[in-house]
Amino acid sequence: MRRLPTLPATAFVLAATAAAAQNATPARDLFGAAATPAPMNTMAIGGYSAGCLAGGAQLAADGPNWQAMRPARNRAFGHTDTIAFIERLSADAARIAGWPGLLVGDISQPRGGPAAGGHVSHQTGLDVDIWFMPMPDYRLSAAERTNLSAISLLRPGTLEVDPARWDDRLPGLLRIAATDPAVARIFVHPGIKARLCEVAGADSAWLRTIRPWYGHEYHFHVRLACPEGEATCIPQDAIPEGDGCGAELAWWLGPEPWQPADPPTPPAAPLTLADLPPACATVLAAGGAPVVDPPLPRIPPR
Ligand SMILES: [Zn+2]
Repeated sequence: MRRLPTLPATAFVLAATAAAAQNATPARDLFGAAATPAPMNTMAIGGYSAGCLAGGAQLAADGPNWQAMRPARNRAFGHTDTIAFIERLSADAARIAGWPGLLVGDISQPRGGPAAGGHVSHQTGLDVDIWFMPMPDYRLSAAERTNLSAISLLRPGTLEVDPARWDDRLPGLLRIAATDPAVARIFVHPGIKARLCEVAGADSAWLRTIRPWYGHEYHFHVRLACPEGEATCIPQDAIPEGDGCGAELAWWLGPEPWQPADPPTPPAAPLTLADLPPACATVLAAGGAPVVDPPLPRIPPR
């Protein structure tokens, strides 16, 4: 009988150790280290807050009616539908609402996935942050794109819009975004939704898509629906009926949502690769996954 060649026992130990290290590594470190998109067809995989992106497309730094901000974050990657949406919204908003152009914040990392610092979602390339500040009439320098501060629309210390910071073209911009067939939800601060409810009057059906949420006083967050035919993408529940200007908004404007939890909620453990759909491991490994800055080796706790 022919004997099959065997690997030395140490090879198994090494492989197992590498797999265990990857299992334990926060997925944000693995996806944060992938400098380029996975060379695959574009596909949103998993949920907005536990997924990844195959075949990400990069938004150009400059377009006729947009400029991409914070270049060093390397988060201008999205599903091709998202890039097409930004191009469409920026053009329509200029033409119809007189909005000079979009300052585009984070979309996703090149391969999506969890990211360090802030965002829970933005993992599948279908979320994009757009500043409430209109684009200036000149091209921002790299330093300005890095350092320029976004401006909150709220009167400091309140849940109300500051009329001095409000731009009358904003409802027009948000209406175009909210009625785009690719869009599932748009998140804004509850005080901003209240202002939109006020100015919309009877034309309020489009406000159903505008969802109140914490933060989002400096930018609005557009979430696209799962692209048609992509069974790998996990959608969110449907939005309740109505424009959301009534009881739900009243709750958001009351004290309850802003009270700190008692006892305080412990921070969630960072997601690992095991918390994401198995296809995300393929996305991570595709094309050799060139890295910007490999994660530092972790010193095991003693
Ligand atoms: Zn966002």
